[in-house]
Amino acid sequence: MSNGNWKPEKGSNIDYLRSTYPGMAKKCDYKRSRSAAIRLACLECCCGSRLMVEECTVVKCPLWQFRRGNSKFPEDERMTRSEVIPSEEWYDSKLDERDTEK
Ligand code: SF4
Repeated sequence: MSNGNWKPEKGSNIDYLRSTYPGMAKKCDYKRSRSAAIRLACLECCCGSRLMVEECTVVKCPLWQFRRGNSKFPEDERMTRSEVIPSEEWYDSKLDERDTEK
């Protein structure tokens, strides 16, 4: 099942990243590592720039809190995020609404 003849597809950013970060890509593809997958997705989003991922300001992005590929989520970033996303109660009310409509 292995694809020993694999070559990066011309113009494919994600394949470029596979070639540039083979360790991370291998973890993603063969160890099913979610953190490596998120890290690669963020790198693809930022044209391969680690610095741009680190400095990403798209706080509302669902991947933002995981963009470093590890569990590091400093308190100040946690606070910043909590200011722009709905509260748990808001989600609960939406879920209640959805359940009542059924
Ligand atoms: S967290 Fe930032 S870098 Fe990662 S996918 Fe979202 S917008 Fe892109």
